[in-house]
Amino acid sequence: VRDIPVSELALHPRRGGPKNLPIVDAFVDDDESAECRELKEKPRLVVLGTGWGSVALLKTLNPGDYHVTVISPSNHFLFTPMLPSATVGTLELRSLVEPVRRIVRRVRGHFIKAMAEDVCFTERLVEVSAVGANGEKEHFYVPYDKLVLGVGSVTNPHGVAGLGNCHFLKDISDARMIRNAVVRNLETACLPTTTDEERRRLLSFVVCGGGPTGVEFAAELYDMLNEDLHKYYPRLLRNEISVHVIQSRGHILNTYDEALSKYAEARFAHDSIDVQTNARVKEVEPDRILFTQKDENGKVVTKEIPMGFCLWSTGVSQTDFSKRIAAKLEGQNNKHALETDTHLRLVGAPLGSVYAIGDCATVQNNISDHIVSFLRTLAWERGKDPENMHLTYSDWRGVAKRVKQRFPQASDHLRRLDKLFSQYDKDKSGTLDFGELRELLLQIDSKLTSLPATAQRAHQQGQYLGRKFNKIALATPGMALNEVQYGDLDDATYKPFDYKHLGSLAYIGNAAIFDINGLNFSGGLLAVYLWRSIYFAQGVSFRTRCLLAMDWSKRALFGRDLMNF
Ligand code: FAD
Repeated sequence: VRDIPVSELALHPRRGGPKNLPIVDAFVDDDESAECRELKEKPRLVVLGTGWGSVALLKTLNPGDYHVTVISPSNHFLFTPMLPSATVGTLELRSLVEPVRRIVRRVRGHFIKAMAEDVCFTERLVEVSAVGANGEKEHFYVPYDKLVLGVGSVTNPHGVAGLGNCHFLKDISDARMIRNAVVRNLETACLPTTTDEERRRLLSFVVCGGGPTGVEFAAELYDMLNEDLHKYYPRLLRNEISVHVIQSRGHILNTYDEALSKYAEARFAHDSIDVQTNARVKEVEPDRILFTQKDENGKVVTKEIPMGFCLWSTGVSQTDFSKRIAAKLEGQNNKHALETDTHLRLVGAPLGSVYAIGDCATVQNNISDHIVSFLRTLAWERGKDPENMHLTYSDWRGVAKRVKQRFPQASDHLRRLDKLFSQYDKDKSGTLDFGELRELLLQIDSKLTSLPATAQRAHQQGQYLGRKFNKIALATPGMALNEVQYGDLDDATYKPFDYKHLGSLAYIGNAAIFDINGLNFSGGLLAVYLWRSIYFAQGVSFRTRCLLAMDWSKRALFGRDLMNF
């Protein structure tokens, strides 16, 4: 098994597809080793991306069942939950990544460092581009029998002007840039030529987005400024430094239980991290950020914060590749992600050949339907007719708890429903029937709600596909999967995907919060150690676990590295 140099692709004899490009199989045609011959007979499984979803799939797949090709611009897997710690030197960048070729090797697969550009569904070809040895971009096709899209997402710009003045936190290179920018600001602030006003601006750090990533970054930054600043920069005054979080919703960490988001807000207030809620960023200029917020009279006013650093972390949206795919297929109506059925098959693509997992995908789910079905179960449990059952507010609380366990991202919807319910309870002597409930649900924007864009979900979906593909390989021995014309093989061999929310955690600066299936707790040092242990246990390999342990010990002994290279 050997790699094809990209420069040789143009010489490859087979050309075709809609653009008449070279078509390459992952194995060189003249490689006649027994291993290669055997694998060439297997169905071609092409996996796009090397993130949480794809890696979980590769780790679950039985070696030798498929002729696997993995295509991604990143030749590493990144352990994202710890990425905020790498932005301020608590952890080293290399401790969070694992070489993907090692993972691909386990399934005797082949890795191509390239970008998927497009898919021709009728001819089962993925169009791929890579920079060749001559420094130019080369395009070619990779054929597939089964294709898995695990291309992740990009940061959502929300149409705000001036995002060129912001940093993002998605990849390892972003963390490196942030670390350099933070240290650069601290160094410039120390220059004798820097005025007081300039120094305060350089030391004003703004985070747009009060979700877990923004909050964890603000917490890490605050820790670094508190614990290490005086050692490296004794001339900088702590009270000249400010950290601000701008959040569009009423609370930070709004997908967590309300008590936990309030705890996080109280903690930030105690640490003098300024949190601006119900605030919408209008524009980011090189030296200040403009946002709107309602004043106490309900009037919308524009405010500004002078700043020397801005992190933009306001949710995710589709990659250009995913948008291109969605535009080609019927039934793709969701603007935020590619829609799949409950077997994770891409809606609109030929049945059983294309799957989408992780951040790039959403499983069609309707929260209102789920609420109604939970209520029906409640009615049956009580031996009542679901259409005429009357509900009390405490019934509703029980239902809301169950829905929230299943759809943690629905907390916001549930909070709004909760308010309506309590109002209803007051006004209508404590009862509500189904027809009215449906109307209530319609009043609220609860149409298509996707599963959360988290590593947890991507990992479960990757594992699900891995297990299913193993079963399918057993169900169709010796048969190319694209020849299976009859029936629904996925349905016949495996159950639909069912997401199990295991809980959410977040680091909030020498404290951590846990929202584990209705069991909520928060705390200081002990909670931080628990938070670390959970991620330590989830580490991708023995290598990354050793590196993480070494980084934590190094930081405890010598403090963080505040140097930029
Ligand atoms: P990703 O892991 O993003 O991987 C996408 C892959 O596709 C990458 O390898 C990329 O290079 C590749 N790719 C992109 N475009 C193409 C293309 N055109 N062709 C081929 N390959 C392509 N989730 C949690 O559950 N808990 C947390 O604590 C948590 N913390 C986070 C902290 C940070 C800073 C960030 C950024 C995210 C965090 N997340 C967390 C979210 C989690 O990382 C994502 O939900 C998860 O990475 C999604 O996995 P994925 O496989 O869909 O995509």
